[in-house]
Amino acid sequence: MSITEMGLQAVRRRIALAAEGAGRRPDSVELVAVTKTFPATVVVEAYGLGQVAFGESYAQEAVEKIAAVRALLERASSSGAYPVNSAVNASAAPAGPPRWHFIGPVQSNKTRLLAEHVDWVHSIDRLKIAQRLSDQRPAQLPELQVCIQVNVSAEGSKGGVQPDGARSLAEAIVALPHLRLRGLMAIPEPTPDGERQRSQFAHLRKLLTQLNSQGMRLDTLSMGMSDDLEAAIAEGATIVRVGRAIFGERV
Ligand SMILES: *Cc1c(COP(=O)(O)O)cnc(C)c1O
Repeated sequence: MSITEMGLQAVRRRIALAAEGAGRRPDSVELVAVTKTFPATVVVEAYGLGQVAFGESYAQEAVEKIAAVRALLERASSSGAYPVNSAVNASAAPAGPPRWHFIGPVQSNKTRLLAEHVDWVHSIDRLKIAQRLSDQRPAQLPELQVCIQVNVSAEGSKGGVQPDGARSLAEAIVALPHLRLRGLMAIPEPTPDGERQRSQFAHLRKLLTQLNSQGMRLDTLSMGMSDDLEAAIAEGATIVRVGRAIFGERV
């Protein structure tokens, strides 16, 4: 069994156990496999093992990889080895093409690339970026699915809006025509302390509940990575973003 296959199995098992422990259905948590620094061939391998959602942190790398993955899948499909859209092997082949989630900091000179090529952006922390993404989203594509990144650790260096700025940013984003605001994302301060992990995730969950009680309809909490996905799922994560625990250490 390859590293990718073992990693995917192990992470799927961790997600299922954490969900069960929290009294949640395992399929209420979506796994975004974070492939930054890994080549397109690794994405194609994971896709062949049933993984559909992939996460990238650098716009240029993401766009090049998306094109490379599409070319590899088309080649495999035309040779009959690997149908892109139909399930040959129901246990493995995913329904539909890979879906791409951008999870890194968004620079304004990269918004067009993202608007044209990804399905989700998790890391919006200012209105200007959201406006550009909406303006630049091609009309023939579905609305770009977005999350607001919130700084739940009160660290100066981390991206994200301060919690008390989330509401006004959310209200402004909801008014943009080509974006669909799905929820909140956080990258908490890394800590081995499980209680501290949970309290940071709980903070994001409460913020989402608050926005929904003020009339929003947000269904996404993007939180939890290789080292803290259990705590995130216990606090209601609907998307976990996992790299190293699947693919091994990045170089
Ligand atoms: C790299 C990255 C991840 C994945 O981190 P791992 O520790 O490899 O699981 C998740 N979220 C964001 C925003 C990242 O940049």
